[in-house]
Amino acid sequence: MANLFIVEKVEYKKNRISYKYRIEGDWKNVFRIEKDKNKLESWYLQQFPDTETLYYEYTSDIDKVPYGIAIIPLLSNIMPLAWFFDATIYVDEIDETYYYALDNILKGYKTFRKGYFNDAKKGSECIVVEKIVRNKQKTSCKKFLTLFSGGVDAWDTLIDVIFLKPIMLTIWGSDIFPGNSKAWDFVKQTNSKIAGSLALGFTHIKTNFRGILNYGIIHEYIKSLHPNFNDYWWSLQHGLALIGMTAPLAHVENIGIIFIGSSQSLLNHWFELSASNPFIDDNIKFGSTITVHKSFQKSRNDKIRNIIKYSKLNNHPLRLRVCWERMSGENCCICEKCLRTWLAILSEGFNPMDFGFDLNEAIIKQSLDSFVNRRITVSKYWDETINNFKGNKYLLDAINEENIKSLIPSIKEIVNILT
Ligand SMILES: [Zn+2]
Repeated sequence: MANLFIVEKVEYKKNRISYKYRIEGDWKNVFRIEKDKNKLESWYLQQFPDTETLYYEYTSDIDKVPYGIAIIPLLSNIMPLAWFFDATIYVDEIDETYYYALDNILKGYKTFRKGYFNDAKKGSECIVVEKIVRNKQKTSCKKFLTLFSGGVDAWDTLIDVIFLKPIMLTIWGSDIFPGNSKAWDFVKQTNSKIAGSLALGFTHIKTNFRGILNYGIIHEYIKSLHPNFNDYWWSLQHGLALIGMTAPLAHVENIGIIFIGSSQSLLNHWFELSASNPFIDDNIKFGSTITVHKSFQKSRNDKIRNIIKYSKLNNHPLRLRVCWERMSGENCCICEKCLRTWLAILSEGFNPMDFGFDLNEAIIKQSLDSFVNRRITVSKYWDETINNFKGNKYLLDAINEENIKSLIPSIKEIVNILT
């Protein structure tokens, strides 16, 4: 039976879009439409206990957005699956720019996920649509939008484009799930405060876009064909899904360019790239809006230097939020990403406690233990940090601030292992 995704209705309610759809064919199981057929890890089921229809909630009213734009968040969340499972999607209307952009987006996927999409011919071909509509906005007074999680990539991009006075957007539903309002309140408060301190606008989108997929089934199936497959969110979903959901917002706010900070760099081999990379993101367009995948050429230490410089020159204290391990929205300081970041800040000669890493003796001890017992794998992303430490043996002695001074001897033990 052919795989079909039939959009029956796009429902608007002031600031909310939701969709009614029917799914047919064998690929039905990759969506969470039948409760007892879920194949999800327990933490995931905790976050998304119910099967529910896809929705997006904005801080602006989007109920006047044309159907062809309102359909983009949904499509952007499922296109890679449709290409992979050779499915056909039925919609009433689609934005012309987005429709043709899909051809280049699929080419992008074919570039960095070789062999995954051989059977998909043209990106737009799997969509059956009644009307293709041009949705151009006025060209004057264009605004800018930057995706802002609060991490290194997001801060680096924000600093680079700050002269454009971009609106900052944080998404509630990607790393913090819709049910976790405690962590969200913390992140929202933090990020809106940052926007306020920089005299920038702040907006957010709340969505269950990750909750409509049956990741266990998707992983099992793709892994059976491609044994090295990692996971759908990281490998195929997130760039297009995150940028695509901004389409209704971009339409009502007259956004000309959306910036997304690169989480990858030129140092990666192409096959190691995640699903947010220049081959995908730079091809995402809709209405009169284009996307810029920012700073792919920079290393993580380049970005950290940019952030430190900005903070110090402008006397603007800032707290990075890099941790995906802790559900509270704060940095745990002991996972690989936290460790890699606070050690990188130290390797640039600065105090990580000035940038959102609340270190103490117990954390340093646990971190040391992780290296001794090889719970943390040191990959090539550590190279620059390690070389910094190797190149300047007295780096840590120069850090004299009271709050970190007593920790330096223990930190030196970690650095000794690294170097
Ligand atoms: Zn962490």
